[in-house]
Amino acid sequence: MIPRTSLSAERIASQLRERQRLQRAGALGWGLGTLLLLAPTWTQTEGADPPFPVRPLTASFQLIEGGNGAGANVGVLVGAEGVVLFDAMKDESHERLLRTVREITAGPITHVFNTHGDSDHSGGNERLVALGATIVAQENVRYRSPRAYPIETFTQRLEVELYGETITLIAQRSHSPDDALIHLERNNVILLGDTYTNVWHPTFYSGGHQGQLAVLELALDLADEETVIVPGHGRPAHRADLLDYRKRCIRWHERVRALVEVGTTEEAMLRDAELQTLRAEFNLRHAERPISDTSFERFLSRTLATDFVDLVPLRGPSIEAYLGQYRYEDGIDLRLTLEGGRIVARQWESGFYELLPVARDRFRIRGSLDPERYVTFEIDPKGLVTAATYVTAESRYRAPRVEP
Ligand SMILES: [Zn+2]
Repeated sequence: MIPRTSLSAERIASQLRERQRLQRAGALGWGLGTLLLLAPTWTQTEGADPPFPVRPLTASFQLIEGGNGAGANVGVLVGAEGVVLFDAMKDESHERLLRTVREITAGPITHVFNTHGDSDHSGGNERLVALGATIVAQENVRYRSPRAYPIETFTQRLEVELYGETITLIAQRSHSPDDALIHLERNNVILLGDTYTNVWHPTFYSGGHQGQLAVLELALDLADEETVIVPGHGRPAHRADLLDYRKRCIRWHERVRALVEVGTTEEAMLRDAELQTLRAEFNLRHAERPISDTSFERFLSRTLATDFVDLVPLRGPSIEAYLGQYRYEDGIDLRLTLEGGRIVARQWESGFYELLPVARDRFRIRGSLDPERYVTFEIDPKGLVTAATYVTAESRYRAPRVEP
């Protein structure tokens, strides 16, 4: 069995009560004494990078703008008893992030809610745990890579009352398997992580065009004209910007589809006027860093590998026949389930991907540009799938089936 933890709103609330109790008892040392003790450390960092720019958005919510490769945007919710961060930037940016938070508030950072598990958003988690924070992220983050610190996870939806705000996290799969749309009801803020950008092309390689549209539709449903929409990178936006972005995503998908349907080569697609117009429009707010030829080529290739892989109709076993549990030699389980008509593979702390059939016994990894990476299946004469093998250019990892 794959271990699993889930998180309930009550559990977060009880952790908060326990923290408040400890705080009152002085056990967490967040009193003035600790702050004074820390003060010399801050003066020692003089000459280091200045704090990140801070953009106040509402009375209790501010945005720390990562930018310049240092990390992603970080939301800061300040309550009377503590501080919630939305994302944690890269590990290397931790000191600078902390200095910036300390310019806003001296309160304890009690929680970090991740928009997803990529390192520019969650790399700083561990050091914030060391400072006493609870990390909250979407369940699928457990299938990415090992994390050495505790994480509370949720599967579909989580609603938490914290510091006078109702924070709702809704699981998505668009940019990554572990995306979460985060809604702060009273502050009227929606954080979209890397499922939305106004300084780059979209990156929907986990959920494809459908996953991209799903998250945008949900955000558009939740938002009114006043809502501040926070992208993982780039500037805060509004509902109208999101509508524009959605239109562009649809135009991109439809144009690529039209070109695929008439047999246009990938090379010729790169020169297509409509795709070139979209290349510029996706990046409208960030003209100082245009999307390079290499990045554009990769965007097109990954769009094709995500949404336009030639699927063969399966002859022989039905798609259900592949589902179930397989086990690699090292004891790691490969679990295949059916989600939205597609096979989703989960490997504990080592992989989350979709499988696209290209032959009866060979499946591609959705979104991957590596043609030498795929999964093969062994099928016995009765049509029973008995083993899976993960193939890369260097190795083959065979996993016999352990459970139908
Ligand atoms: Zn990012």
